[in-house]
Amino acid sequence: MAITDSVPTAVVSGGSLSGLMAAITLKDLGYRVTVFERSTTVESQGAGIVLGKWSSGFFNKFDKTETEISVPISRRQFFNLDGSTITEEEIKLGVTSWDKLYYTLRANYDGYIQQGYLNKEQNAAQKDDKTDYFMSTVVVSHAYNPDKGKVTVTYRKKEGNESQTEVDLFVCAEGASSSSRELYFPDLTRKYAGYLAFRGLVPEKELKPETAKKLINSISFLHAEDSQFLCYPIPGPGGSLVPGERHMNFVWYNTYPEGPILDKVLTDKQGKRRPFSVTTGSMPTSVVEEEIHAKTRAKLSPECLELVMKTKHPFVQVVTDVISPAGVFHDGHVILVGDAFSGARPHTAASTNKAADHALRLHEVLKADPRNLLRLKEAWEPRSMEYSNHLFHIGKRIGDLSQFDVHPMRADKEIPDRTLEDWMKVGEPK
Ligand SMILES: Cc1cc2nc3c(=O)[nH]c(=O)nc-3n(C[C@H](O)[C@H](O)[C@H](O)COP(=O)(O)OP(=O)(O)OC[C@H]3O[C@@H](n4cnc5c(N)ncnc54)[C@H](O)[C@@H]3O)c2cc1C
Repeated sequence: MAITDSVPTAVVSGGSLSGLMAAITLKDLGYRVTVFERSTTVESQGAGIVLGKWSSGFFNKFDKTETEISVPISRRQFFNLDGSTITEEEIKLGVTSWDKLYYTLRANYDGYIQQGYLNKEQNAAQKDDKTDYFMSTVVVSHAYNPDKGKVTVTYRKKEGNESQTEVDLFVCAEGASSSSRELYFPDLTRKYAGYLAFRGLVPEKELKPETAKKLINSISFLHAEDSQFLCYPIPGPGGSLVPGERHMNFVWYNTYPEGPILDKVLTDKQGKRRPFSVTTGSMPTSVVEEEIHAKTRAKLSPECLELVMKTKHPFVQVVTDVISPAGVFHDGHVILVGDAFSGARPHTAASTNKAADHALRLHEVLKADPRNLLRLKEAWEPRSMEYSNHLFHIGKRIGDLSQFDVHPMRADKEIPDRTLEDWMKVGEPK
């Protein structure tokens, strides 16, 4: 049913990167937008993000603060176990961090300024009655009423009672474990891919000068049996891009069959077995020593080892597969975006790019008539689906090759032909 109210309304469930990008898009289209975010605090964990074409495109189009968001990278290199280089090539890439993107998006959405990241002189959005962002608020359920053409969203603030609001559009940006998606696909769950990522950060200035010199302008990889390590620089505290103030960020994939050892790695200091991740500062020291530190010498070069050993609080995330067969429901009144639509494996380094693509296409499809949600099924879903599928399959191929087969850049094997197939370079999917 077409929207008749003078100001169309939307609720976005999930206030991370894909939720904020969709919210900014809808605000620009004239919607009154409310974002509900379940977390009580913004916990970035300092995760690194590779900026892709659509992420950059999104910020070029919507960022009014003119924030410089990325650290430039000029080289991709693959290491041997002794630290010598197997191969390297020049590339042009921007890398950033989750928190840098989050705070820049918030400034553009509702004018929220996080000290250090942005300042008051920057042209942030003015707080008005068109946007709300509520933390500590979980979306419990939603229901479409076809007679009214409205979605009733039930939500609960921390330690409060349930409340309801009625909107024209419900955007589910709840990430790969989305509960709102269950309404449409109750049997769709995240499937463990058989390996996980240990991750961490080290301040650039704490690295040996020769290590910093070798790693700082590059994205570096080291492949070994059951193991893929990569690292790149990201903004430092307060989003600083200043050389010397940045962080080096590593992601180290390790194969773990399901069983007691995996359970141990995913059990936090409180003794609770976590399903998908143990956050920074929550891994028991014994697990860090036995499962991370003990493996470094066999699988990492000296500079990669230095990064891991200098990381004060590593964290762990499991790698999973999940893709939704559809992303538009109830004549366009409910949509899935970002990882809720498809939780691709991280090897394409393009999940944020996908979230930006979802938001940019939403703008493209609705800009002629923001009330015409019927168009989403025919004009937004196929393209978003195609892109999500592309990333899903390439991510799976790269991950399986690295963890369960012989990657051409394996450091612990003699490989006669070290040519990288084009699909492994990922680049920018169409
Ligand atoms: C190991 C690893 C490495 C990665 N590296 C990269 C990379 O290099 N580049 C890249 O682009 N991406 C990378 N990613 C992925 C990236 O972090 C996400 O794809 C990106 O942040 C977009 O996610 P999202 O906003 O869709 O979901 P999420 O970031 O998962 O956010 C979902 C949000 O919804 C909230 N939420 C969930 N349910 C509810 C509810 N019922 N009510 C209210 N709120 C709710 C959650 O609290 C959360 O804040 C990586 C991921 C992993 C695991």
